Amino acid sequence: MEKKDILSFTFDELQNELENLGEKKFRASQVYKWLHADTVTDFDMMTNLPKQLREKLDENYYFASAEPEKKLISSIDSTVKYLFRLRDGEYIESVLMKYKYGYSICVSSQVGCKMGCKFCASTLNGVVRNLTSSEILAQVYTAQRDNNIKISHVVLMGMGEPLDNFDNVMRFISLITDEKGQDMSMRHISLSTCGLVPKIYELMNKNLQLTLSVSLHAPNDEIRSTMMPVNKKYNISALLKACREYTGFTHRRISFEYAMVKGVNDSPACAEELAKRLKGILCHINLIPVNEVKETGCKRSSKSDINAFSQILSSCGYTVTVRRELGSDINASCGQLRRNTVKNLIKEVT
Ligand code: SAH
Repeated sequence: MEKKDILSFTFDELQNELENLGEKKFRASQVYKWLHADTVTDFDMMTNLPKQLREKLDENYYFASAEPEKKLISSIDSTVKYLFRLRDGEYIESVLMKYKYGYSICVSSQVGCKMGCKFCASTLNGVVRNLTSSEILAQVYTAQRDNNIKISHVVLMGMGEPLDNFDNVMRFISLITDEKGQDMSMRHISLSTCGLVPKIYELMNKNLQLTLSVSLHAPNDEIRSTMMPVNKKYNISALLKACREYTGFTHRRISFEYAMVKGVNDSPACAEELAKRLKGILCHINLIPVNEVKETGCKRSSKSDINAFSQILSSCGYTVTVRRELGSDINASCGQLRRNTVKNLIKEVT
């Protein structure tokens, strides 16, 4: 019989599983606590369970894992970038950041990505597969254990498009916020999307108190379509309509991400157009100096162009931030470490 993924079960599901194995109900509370509060990696570590039960669990279930294959620590700000190896040998990346308020981790939701954004390293070879909810959790749990810390914030902004792996991401969110496990505050979770409009509505209907980030990156379809193929399917009007409804329904502010690419989307005219288009949406604008990825040819906007852009938006009444760069010496933006490793592995094999 094939083993099942024990970390992906909700508490109720785990209770059913144990009942089906002929166990008493209270065992589910013990096992769930070991899995999601203590984050053990082996059934033998569940010391308050009888040995027989531990063996039975081991026969029937496996632990999803994210093993650090590489770990880069920034000498500037102690940001840690992990290349994690999954059970099937695939690689994903996560970035652990330290802020005044605590630790935050940027996790991946897919191996690769199929969205094709022109400036992004994660999507260069397409998508390999979705991550399970347990593999998203494992990134958090491993980073916590490895650094002996408690992580208070999660951003779903690593490799992959979270809304393209909707069910597993929703399951991850319900597991990590479960008070019987990590008990993370929903308000400490951010989810970033390139703009899959029907899924934004689906998320809206769940009415979660998380922060939705929308990767907008351009004020009009002409520019956005050259940067993001998804715009040909869901254009800016459709996307912003969904965003207006989302904020109206959830009363949560949306964060618009805007990667500044030299000569592409960084002119004062773009800033003015953006200010007009976002009018009336409860939002925050986050300007990101684009990370230059060799293969994409995108160049970063100058500091003065970014400042001028930001000024225009602020003068129109928007809250604007320019993303502080963490881990700039370790290439902390997503996709690049996996890409280099996978390329080297291919070289080693051939
Ligand atoms: N697929 C989701 C989340 C992953 S990307 C999304 O598109 O939002 C997380 C953020 O990093 C997105 O805003 C994305 O557009 C941005 N990003 C990707 N590559 C980048 C790069 N080279 N420089 C700056 N930002 C980048």
